[in-house]
Amino acid sequence: MTWAGKNVTVAGLGVSGIPAARVLHGLGAVVTVVNEGDDERSRTQAADLEALGVTVRLGDGDTLPEGTELVVTTPGWKPGKPLFAAAAAAGVEVWGDVELAWRLRGPGAAPWLAVTGTNGKTTTVRMLASILEAAGLRTAAVGNIGVSLLDVVTGDDTYDVLAVELSSYQLHWAPSLRAHSATVLNLAPDHLDWHGSMEAYAADKGRIYEGNQVACVYNVADKATEDLVREADVEEGCRAIGFTLNAPAPSQLGVVDGILVDRAFVPDRQKQAQELAEISDVQPPAPHNIANALAAAALARAYGVPATAVRDGLRAFRPDAHRIEHVADVAEVAYVDDSKATNTHAAEASLAAYESIVWIAGGLAKGATFDELVTKSAKRLRAVVLIGADRALIREALARHAPEVPVVDLDRTDTGAMSEAVRQAARLAEPGDTVLMAPACASMDMFTNYNKRGDAFADAVRELGASA
Ligand code: ADP
Repeated sequence: MTWAGKNVTVAGLGVSGIPAARVLHGLGAVVTVVNEGDDERSRTQAADLEALGVTVRLGDGDTLPEGTELVVTTPGWKPGKPLFAAAAAAGVEVWGDVELAWRLRGPGAAPWLAVTGTNGKTTTVRMLASILEAAGLRTAAVGNIGVSLLDVVTGDDTYDVLAVELSSYQLHWAPSLRAHSATVLNLAPDHLDWHGSMEAYAADKGRIYEGNQVACVYNVADKATEDLVREADVEEGCRAIGFTLNAPAPSQLGVVDGILVDRAFVPDRQKQAQELAEISDVQPPAPHNIANALAAAALARAYGVPATAVRDGLRAFRPDAHRIEHVADVAEVAYVDDSKATNTHAAEASLAAYESIVWIAGGLAKGATFDELVTKSAKRLRAVVLIGADRALIREALARHAPEVPVVDLDRTDTGAMSEAVRQAARLAEPGDTVLMAPACASMDMFTNYNKRGDAFADAVRELGASA
């Protein structure tokens, strides 16, 4: 591909559009950025790019500039936008930031071990990077995790292998990506407004398996992920590898008597299994997180990492904040912050990790329904404290499926609401219980983001501790 003089349109400013425009301009392309917004911030960003010689058109994200030979889009742009229809009509390809990074990799570039799924992506990618590091490999956790792939492939550092988190949006716009090995951790409805349907969402996730060289790693407990492997067109000799919380069949990784074992990457998978680590090596040792660890281990083993590195890497791994984070014990009650549980599938996983729970839930439901979550979790609920804009949806599901569970409905959304929620939860909890803030909803009705919601919870728990 020769970039010099090529007319490239970048769709959208922002975190991925601006670096894409800069890189393309640096390669000699003639770059035009189109951006829907025309606010103060966009104007400043536009001025910076224009100073370099990039053309920026603000206030119109729909019209394809004359002479465009390639569109590079920010992943958030919905596929239904008129700009893409115009590109298709003109026979112009559309790439996302990941596709651009993939195409710009130099010769002999590091292979990608890729992770997607509705939940657990960041955790799994960080576990994977930790395992690869423990094996002495030069690696980084990159992609949707906050480190841009474009920076990595155009930067000066060299890597042996990359642990790459990919969102469904990024996969949608990455047609030629070919990972060494990849996994779809799980599939539950999410972002359907963007993709249009569950089928379209699954198909975009499934693209991660296309052209895999060594292993397509799927979740035995989530048949949809296995179906995606079956539908993928992979390199000759690429294997389907399952991960399971049960004893593994041949070509699977699983758990036997509290030990994570590999029955896939061993010389004789009919007769042998290799011990990798103990459940207690995984933090936190909740079931869904053991699944994340097994998926990370499968990708690392596909790359040829020894079993001891899996154990050492998992031991060295520390979860990010607000992901089933144990904040404190107060009066023999554990307080756990899972503010990152912004959808019902994530909340279901963390509710499954504790026996007796006072659950703090609610926020913005994003079109979700709560019947399944409540049905599956009812027997673990000591009580529920509801907060946020869409709390009535959860209250109604509780009334339908768990009418015996006491519910406190907090009719306030001010900054003190979380403190009151925690005080109410403390009143309802009994020694040995867990107060779990896993809201199953987005946070933006009451907080700037899920980090702030988690911080508010932790502050409230500390106040409680101080007054206890
Ligand atoms: P992502 O990057 O996909 O958003 P994270 O690793 O940041 O995932 O975890 C987000 C939340 O999803 C966690 O706080 C936890 O509640 C939940 N979670 C993590 N792993 C899984 C899993 N394998 N299955 C279901 N839920 C999970």
